[in-house]
Amino acid sequence: MKSLREFRLLRNDMEDESVTNSHNKRFMSEEQKTSAVIREGELQKTFGTKKPRILSGMRPTGRLHIGHFAGALEPWVKLQNVAENYHLIADYHVLTTKLDTSDILQLSIDMATDWIAFGIDPEKSPIFRQSKVKQHTELFLIFSMLITKARLERNPAVKDQVRDLGIGEGMTYGHLGYPVLQAADILLYKADLVPVGEDQVPHVEITREFARDFNHHYGNVFPVPRAYLSETPRLTGTDGKRMSKSLGNTILLSDTPDDTWKKMKTAVTDPQKVRRNDPGRPEICLVYGYHQKWNPLEVQEIHDGCSSGALGCVDCKKRVTDKINESFAPQREKRTELAKNPDSVLKIIEQGEIRANDEAEKTMKDVRSAMKFG
Ligand code: SF4
Repeated sequence: MKSLREFRLLRNDMEDESVTNSHNKRFMSEEQKTSAVIREGELQKTFGTKKPRILSGMRPTGRLHIGHFAGALEPWVKLQNVAENYHLIADYHVLTTKLDTSDILQLSIDMATDWIAFGIDPEKSPIFRQSKVKQHTELFLIFSMLITKARLERNPAVKDQVRDLGIGEGMTYGHLGYPVLQAADILLYKADLVPVGEDQVPHVEITREFARDFNHHYGNVFPVPRAYLSETPRLTGTDGKRMSKSLGNTILLSDTPDDTWKKMKTAVTDPQKVRRNDPGRPEICLVYGYHQKWNPLEVQEIHDGCSSGALGCVDCKKRVTDKINESFAPQREKRTELAKNPDSVLKIIEQGEIRANDEAEKTMKDVRSAMKFG
């Protein structure tokens, strides 16, 4: 086994990705060389009767929208019967882009309210805040010694954020290191799988590197987790851009049926379909994407009606709005009830934190023991 000093020198010598990759390949056992990705439908083939452990989370930045539902929440709900889910409210991660934490508790409660109302069963799947499980920061500190600054700077997501947020030299140490905290979040629960979108698979790769590196140097403590890709549609915002609360183009899970219709009425459609009877191109229209998700039985009829000009945009939008409102009615009712008593939601979160702390401490005992801290 290499000494830690030799190991760090080796890491510091790594100037490019190819070196990192070959380094990690050397660290991989045969089992670890298995695919980094598991797709929906492959769970049983991969895990048999064992329930894989799953870590999924979100930053509490506000109420959730229908894109969160289709892309994350709905797949989590499906998974909770076949997997052991842990749901992280990643409140420390908010600090990477926002230092004002005055509303962080309320935002966390709001997000948990959406999760519970829309199907997460906290009895099966604990919901907990990162800031209330101190082992996240302990493992983050240890992991931060196992990665070079150069490796973090090569992270494509960091490059994108530097460009999108215009932060350049202003990026903080914590922001640059967010994949380190993310790896600690995942490995603290010894997760087998991390549900992500296709574009986030590289994020999981950094976590896999941490698991291999730690195991190589201190002994086998962590499973090497894999990305879990579910078949989820990518929904566009009502203005035709990426759905994002900051762009004001979302339909919230907590919106009323009237709010939903008001937002849908303003949604952009095919610009070639100017008059009601003009033929349209459903494949380029975001409203058609909503039909595919919430109105699958009528999707062919909508396609034909739009293409022939028999269907007008207002009618088309009304039909999908009715489907969304119909599908969300029970969850929205439950959400309204839960929101009347935020203390009860906080209690549910605190219960989850007891379970998360137990698991986290078990892992940290393994980590401290493997590292001979005693
Ligand atoms: S009819 Fe529907 S699918 Fe076609 S352009 Fe209008 S809103 Fe879009």
